[in-house]
Amino acid sequence: MSLRIGYGYDVHQLAAGEDLVIGGLTIPHEKGSVGHSDADVLLHVICDALLGALALGDIGTHFPDTDPAYKGIDSKILLRDTWALVQAEGYGLANVDSTVCLQRPKLKPHIPAMRACIADILGVDVGRIGIKATTTEKLGFVGLEEGVSAHAVVLLEAQA
Ligand code: MG
Repeated sequence: MSLRIGYGYDVHQLAAGEDLVIGGLTIPHEKGSVGHSDADVLLHVICDALLGALALGDIGTHFPDTDPAYKGIDSKILLRDTWALVQAEGYGLANVDSTVCLQRPKLKPHIPAMRACIADILGVDVGRIGIKATTTEKLGFVGLEEGVSAHAVVLLEAQA
C-alpha cells in the first residue's frame, strides 16, 4: 500500500463587516475572516494538506490571490478542484484531521455540519473527516480575536 501524508496551516485576519466562513458554513458573528476568496481557513488548510501530500505545491500555486477569477470565490469550489487533482493522481482519502483555532464564537455546535459538508465534497464517509476546535486561552492573535488559524493533516492511499 502506498501512503502519502500532507499538512496544511493557514491564518486569516478577522474584521467587522466580513462573513465568518469556516468549513463551508457561514457562522453568525460580529467579525468575519478577511481574504481574497471567502477566506475559509479550514477548507484552505485541507486543500494545502491534500496538495502537500502529493508535493503539488500549495493553494496559492493553484488558485493565486492575484487572479480576479478567485475574488470572493466559495472555497468549496477550491476544495472540489483540489480533490479532483488528487484523484487524477490516483489517490483516495484515508482520513483528514484538523484543528481550528478561534477565540469566539464556540465552533462545537457547527462541527457536525462542517464535517458533513467536507465529506460530501470529497465523496467519503463523514467518519473520515476529523474537525476539532480550540481557543488559545486569550493568548496571541487568536486569543485577542484578531485572527483565526487552522491546521490539517491528511493521509492519502494509492488506489489499486
Ligand atoms: Mg487562506
